[in-house]
Amino acid sequence: KLFNEVQELKGNIRVYCRVRPFLPGQDKKSTTIDYMGENGELLISNPFKQGKDGHRMFKFNKVFNPLASQAEVFSDIQPLVRSVLDGFNVCIFAYGQTGSGKTYTMSGPSTSKRDWGVNYRALNDLFDISLNASLHPVKSTSDVLDLMEIGQANRAVGSTALNERSSRSHSILTVHVRGLDLKNGSTSRGCLHLIDLAGSERVEKSEVTGDRLREAQYINKSLSALGDVIFALAQKSAHVPYRNSKLTQVLQSSLGGQAKTLMFVQINPDVESYSETISTLKFAERVS
Ligand code: ADP
Ligand code: MG
Repeated sequence: KLFNEVQELKGNIRVYCRVRPFLPGQDKKSTTIDYMGENGELLISNPFKQGKDGHRMFKFNKVFNPLASQAEVFSDIQPLVRSVLDGFNVCIFAYGQTGSGKTYTMSGPSTSKRDWGVNYRALNDLFDISLNASLHPVKSTSDVLDLMEIGQANRAVGSTALNERSSRSHSILTVHVRGLDLKNGSTSRGCLHLIDLAGSERVEKSEVTGDRLREAQYINKSLSALGDVIFALAQKSAHVPYRNSKLTQVLQSSLGGQAKTLMFVQINPDVESYSETISTLKFAERVS
């Protein structure tokens, strides 16, 4: 196997937490983050409680602090991305409330190279190392960038603000890769899904009417169905409930079995996000 450095974790599922920095104008003192450990520990403090009850510890495979660069994040997951060339199916998700950095992680804040998120870096890396060794209908990273721009534009249809739109839709970029082992001529097929999920926040009661209600129900249903599937896989349970949402149906062949799953759990450190942060972390804790 060419790129088989990927560590074997429980059910091939790993959960990485990424805490975004405070944005200009936000009060840095109002943070919920007490401590980020080298080994994936995250200590959250409850702004409404003092003493020992005011803290909660979570543990993930890794925690990226707010200073982690896009390049650092990618270098960590590069072996996982490259395993598609060995025929593995890989899903990389970004989960979290709107404004927590999902799109920053997956796409990046701009298309300048330094800012590139996981999806541009993954495609670029696969093209870089697969010259001469694979057949691809897309000829270059820039072809893919064009495709992705069309995807982003479609995502914005029907709304003036992209973030408002993207907070209510899942964005899935799927790349099919055919690998060729130059030593023995055998081929393999792998599939990489890069998924910027809809915002996980609960919808304000006052907003819940008509289309907004249907969207909110769809999002809640698909995110909880995703959580149930990953939970069942992590437990190695005999029944995995793929059929409960379109999202899990679409990804079925790439979740479970030999497939590898990585979930970025995105955190906004602001105290105002405390209750969403806790529910995001509980979701993540259940699937990790
Ligand atoms: P989401 O997609 O979860 O709604 P965004 O990715 O749009 O969130 O991030 C919200 C804001 O925070 C954006 O202005 C984004 O540029 C900024 N941001 C997110 N993560 C980071 C980071 N790691 N470093 C710097 N800025 C970030
Ligand atoms: Mg977004």
